[in-house]
Amino acid sequence: MFLEMVGGIKLKAKKSLGQNFLIDNNIIKRISDSISAGENDLIIEIGPGMGALTKYLKDKNAYLICYEIDEDLKNYLNSLNDSKTQIIYNDILKSDIKNDIKNINYNNLYIVGNLPYYITTPIIKCLISMDLDIKEMVFMVQEEVADRFTAKEKHKEYGSITLYLKYYFDLYKLFNVSKKCFQPIPKVDSAVIKLIKRNTKINVDKNKYFKLIEDSFKMKRKTLKNNLNNYDFNKVSEVLAKYNLNENVRAEEISEEVFVDICNNL
Ligand code: SAM
Repeated sequence: MFLEMVGGIKLKAKKSLGQNFLIDNNIIKRISDSISAGENDLIIEIGPGMGALTKYLKDKNAYLICYEIDEDLKNYLNSLNDSKTQIIYNDILKSDIKNDIKNINYNNLYIVGNLPYYITTPIIKCLISMDLDIKEMVFMVQEEVADRFTAKEKHKEYGSITLYLKYYFDLYKLFNVSKKCFQPIPKVDSAVIKLIKRNTKINVDKNKYFKLIEDSFKMKRKTLKNNLNNYDFNKVSEVLAKYNLNENVRAEEISEEVFVDICNNL
């Protein structure tokens, strides 16, 4: 699928880079409106593409840094550079964001993007690992992924990634987006999610907790007891009993509060 001509260059959307460009201005505006950044804040946009969302973000007059891997999009993006906006042509997964933003004197950090779907989870994990003190993130992701990220216990989409993200953020699914709002049209529908930094930290050993939830959901159809066969299950059972849960419970039925309690009892 060829996109419009810019500067005499005919561009082909690159499937391998997850290039499905938003063409619905109503949706683009809704995403931008979901970011509550002001003049003294910093917004990082991941994958600006042809700048559809970038143009709305610029109206907030915040500092804006955009990471785009595809230098062929320079013809669309370079004109957006100004004293508060910078386009960096680099792989977000290989970027040293802390270094790139070190000279900007901002209040709060916001991250936004219509993400390339082939690396949604790696991008979010990479951002978290950088310890950037992110206030809010707003992302367009595959609808199924949005459901998984924001699921509540006792729902089939609930899993270790939900609990991992919940450790850092309050998670919200904002709205669905039809595949018809993109060009080229992707195979799946999408949704916009918002992750807001948690006010209160969970009182638990982080690494031990992440290992516990990873192990608990290892085989989704198995019971917790089967998945945790390397653990002292008597200690797990003590906590389960406190919450009236029996030994045949599955991980997807267990809330964050109970997992934290189990972890602190091990
Ligand atoms: N924001 C644009 C829009 O909404 O129309 C484009 C979104 S498109 C789904 C994803 C964008 O991410 C593409 O422009 C693609 O080139 C870019 N991209 C893909 N992999 C990337 C990476 N590793 N680092 C930075 N940008 C990447």
